[in-house]
Amino acid sequence: AKAGGRNGFRFFTRHMTQAANERLLLESRLRQALSGGELQLALQPKVRMSDRRLTGFEALLRWTDKHGHSTPPSRFIPVAEDSGLIVDIGLWVLREACQVAAQWPRHGAAPLTIAVNASPRQLAQPGFAEEVGRILQHSGLPAAQLEIEVTENALLEKTGVVQQTLQQLKQLGVRLAVDDFGTGYSSLAYLKNFAPNTVKIDRCFVTDLQSRHDNAAIVLAIITLAKSLGMEALAEGVETEAEFAALLTLGCDTVQGYLTGKPLPLDEAAALVAAEVER
Ligand code: C2E
Ligand code: CA
Ligand code: CA
Ligand code: CA
Repeated sequence: AKAGGRNGFRFFTRHMTQAANERLLLESRLRQALSGGELQLALQPKVRMSDRRLTGFEALLRWTDKHGHSTPPSRFIPVAEDSGLIVDIGLWVLREACQVAAQWPRHGAAPLTIAVNASPRQLAQPGFAEEVGRILQHSGLPAAQLEIEVTENALLEKTGVVQQTLQQLKQLGVRLAVDDFGTGYSSLAYLKNFAPNTVKIDRCFVTDLQSRHDNAAIVLAIITLAKSLGMEALAEGVETEAEFAALLTLGCDTVQGYLTGKPLPLDEAAALVAAEVER
């Protein structure tokens, strides 16, 4: 029995060991990336359908190291989540995003919003909402200009902490969005309870909407549901004019996708804001 733990290694296949090592290596590189300033934000425009005007941006993480080598979020976000690193990385994203948005010039219309993704791990941290409040105060960004995107599955979290955090964020005046709607395991009861400002319709339902009757039926149902609950409907991953036209017919409010704007480096996003203000 004494030797059990050590001998357990025998049962690891070479492949498993290699995968585990790669993950550990990625985790330690990611930790250094955060402290070494290798993380960047890209800002993707959100556009109102009725007049195609900019309503805000979603902040998306980018990791490019000193040698110009990039790792996609689909590779490093899961590692950050499993290791808990997402808590510190998420706070960095929030600070950075709020600082950037606080610099945007004000114009007559409704102020532009900045959306930030929050993982379930972050929402389960006691004190997360207080930290958001401090970040807003420090940056000078009004709470109503910050939107926090939460995936549907985060709502399943039974721990009282997540529910309490979401309520506290609302009390601060922060906007809430449910991300990737329709792909997770949540129910309509969760949607009712959470009462987000925005429902983000996942790209998988938006693709070829104009010719796919199943997608059109699902998107119409989500938009109808969102609107009757007083929520805004946003379609993700809109790539073509045909999809845009179909969404307009179905009554969608806002779109985000390559058609209306790819994720942009900060300077290009700032130029877009300046142009919008002058319009
Ligand atoms: P998401 O939150 O659903 O973000 C939307 C993703 O769709 C982004 O991928 C964006 O670049 C991509 N996208 C936008 N428009 C289009 C389009 O028209 N066509 C296609 N094919 N794709 C489009 P990205 O930047 O690779 O991010 C992937 C995921 O990584 C995000 O999905 C989000 O779940 C996660 N992520 C990114 N940044 C953060 C972050 O700061 N914190 C956390 N927790 N997760 C993040
Ligand atoms: Ca998102
Ligand atoms: Ca999404
Ligand atoms: Ca997604």
